[in-house]
Amino acid sequence: MSFLQEVNRRSGEQVQLCFQCFKCSLGCPVAFAMDYLPHQLMRLIQLEKREEVLNSHTIWLCAACETCTTRCPNGIDIAKVIDTLRQMAMEENKGTEKEIVAFHKSFLDTVYHLGRAHEVGLMALYKLRTKRFLDDLWLVPELVKRQKLSFRLSKVENLGEVKKIFKKAALWQK
Ligand code: SF4
Ligand code: SF4
Repeated sequence: MSFLQEVNRRSGEQVQLCFQCFKCSLGCPVAFAMDYLPHQLMRLIQLEKREEVLNSHTIWLCAACETCTTRCPNGIDIAKVIDTLRQMAMEENKGTEKEIVAFHKSFLDTVYHLGRAHEVGLMALYKLRTKRFLDDLWLVPELVKRQKLSFRLSKVENLGEVKKIFKKAALWQK
C-alpha cells in the first residue's frame, strides 16, 4: 500500500484532491514556525515522501485549530490528516518534537485512565517522561491559589465507554 493510500485509509480523507490552492496555509496561525506549510505537507503525501512527512516538525507544531480544514475548498480535513500523521510517527518512534510527543502521550494517558483531562496527572507524567522536574515549578503556588490544580483523581462514570473509543480508534488505525 502506498503512503498516500495509507494516510487516506487511516484518516478517512482524500489527500489526492488537494490542488495546491494555498488557502489552508494562509489561514494557519502556526505557519510561521513550521518546516512545511500545510499545503506543502499535502503535496509531500501525494508525492509519497513518507520520511519527510513523518519526520517533519509541522505535524507536532500543528495546534489542531482546524482553520485549514474550514478553509479547504475540497473539503479535506487537514487537521485530521495531521493527527493521523502524528499517530503514524509515534508508532515508528519518529516524533521530532520530543517534548510535544511527551505531552501528547501524557494527555492521552490521563484520558485513557480517567476518562478526562487531569492537569496534575498530566504534569506528573510529562515531567517523568521529559525529566524536567524543576521547570515551571514556580507557577505551582499561583495555580494552587487560583484553584486551577486538582489533586483528586476522579474518573468519569462511564470510563468503559471511553476505553471502547480508544480500542475502536486503535482498530481503525490498523
Ligand atoms: S489545524 Fe494545524 S495546520 Fe491547520 S490551521 Fe490549525 S494549526 Fe495550522
Ligand atoms: S486548502 Fe485544501 S486544496 Fe487548498 S492547498 Fe490546502 S489542502 Fe490543498
